[in-house]
Amino acid sequence: MESSCRNLNVAILASPGMGHLIPVVVLGNRLAAHHSVRVTVLQVTTAASPPESELLNLPVHKELVQIIQLPPVDISHLVGPSTQVVTQLCLMVREALPVIRSAIAAMGRRPDALFVDHFGTDALPIAAEFNIAKYVYIPSTAWFTAVTVYCPVLDQEIEGQYVDQLEDLIIPGCKPVRPEEVVDPMLDRNDQQYDEYVRMGKQIPLFDGILLNSWEDLEPKTILALRENETLRSVVNIPIYPVGPMRRPVEPASPTSKLKGWLDQQANESVLFVSFGSGGMLSAEQITELAWGLELSRQRFIWVVRPPTRGRVDDAFFNIGNSSDGTPSYLPKGFLTRTRDVGLLVPQWAPQVEILSHPAIGGFLSHCGWNSMLESITSGVPIIAWPLYAEQRLNATFLVEEVGVAVRPRVVPTKQVVGREEIERLVRSLIEHEEGQGMRDKAKQLKLSAMDGLGHGGSSYKSMCEILSRIG
Ligand code: UDP
Repeated sequence: MESSCRNLNVAILASPGMGHLIPVVVLGNRLAAHHSVRVTVLQVTTAASPPESELLNLPVHKELVQIIQLPPVDISHLVGPSTQVVTQLCLMVREALPVIRSAIAAMGRRPDALFVDHFGTDALPIAAEFNIAKYVYIPSTAWFTAVTVYCPVLDQEIEGQYVDQLEDLIIPGCKPVRPEEVVDPMLDRNDQQYDEYVRMGKQIPLFDGILLNSWEDLEPKTILALRENETLRSVVNIPIYPVGPMRRPVEPASPTSKLKGWLDQQANESVLFVSFGSGGMLSAEQITELAWGLELSRQRFIWVVRPPTRGRVDDAFFNIGNSSDGTPSYLPKGFLTRTRDVGLLVPQWAPQVEILSHPAIGGFLSHCGWNSMLESITSGVPIIAWPLYAEQRLNATFLVEEVGVAVRPRVVPTKQVVGREEIERLVRSLIEHEEGQGMRDKAKQLKLSAMDGLGHGGSSYKSMCEILSRIG
């Protein structure tokens, strides 16, 4: 199979933002390293995008993967202060269509296929123009995919806001969606981002196939529904390729790294890692409760802290403190001193993949971004699910109710503050109790099933070969 892919050349369109570029580069690396495909990543950028030099930090398969930053697009004349994220992303891709077309035309050898992420479905006519194969890469779950392609039907059938429905939303063959768990663009049907989302749901089925960052053993029921459920097939009648889990590789830690040094001293599976993704922030009140909850649990932790949502971002961690021990003003007074022996605070950003893969980590309190979830599962680490935005409420429900590798607060964290006693209970149950050990065992099983899927002859490996043989 590999030899038939050897000369393939694939262009992958990445919508703006590192959060979208990373999964695309990870896919590109896998195509290059395991299937000898030559990959050109076309990155849509804006004036605010990180400079090219920052891309150097991304681990890229140097021989076969090239990243081209497209000329920046300007959508300032199209947006206002209330324009939501999904609308902005779709507008940026739309504005970039001429430069995407030029970049493909300028490629020395025409690509054999164009892959786009789900914000890039507007690029569909470009693939038709160049007469090349076209695939959508959804770096998320099969369940999210099913909800997205079925949303145009819900749009016709359901009146009023989804969040006000008294019954769960039925997605044929799949787990129903509770009204309070819908993805962000479905929260308000009067917002433009809802229209963009519905359009995306209608465009996805026009591609030649869907790649998912999931795998057969993780979501057997939903993947089957996408392939065989008649009602669902009536809206999405194209092949589904679960090719995951793809994630960033672990970078070797510097032997002098303070984090590694600290983790090396902790007992196996004794530390909770707390982080809310690339941009997740909590309210001041929630940060206080989380700090008290961690302290009351008496468990070890590493916490990637950020100032509260309504706080001043320049209240930088190291500069201010309301107590002499340097505790930031948004944490309870004296927190650093009292937790000195058990906890480590990291300001803003931490090397997450490296931390999760350390044997000392026993749990992850996370916002449930899908990359984070895959990084946790493939490290055999169970989760306290704390969804904040995008499709994270779906991810949380899936991991708690279908997979059994996560616990979650009784309240929805975006609706209510989770109290300190509740947090203490969750942390203890994950790190100390048998319930946590059961979930850890489950996560370890999934880690093995993920490795099997990706290995030669595994389901995800074969899915990728199948796509490539169709293209080639
Ligand atoms: N990440 C990291 N360090 C941090 C925060 C995030 O390395 O302090 C990485 C994390 O490993 C993951 C990505 O950023 O690969 C976040 O992606 P995810 O889909 O989990 O959430 P998003 O940030 O897109 O909401």
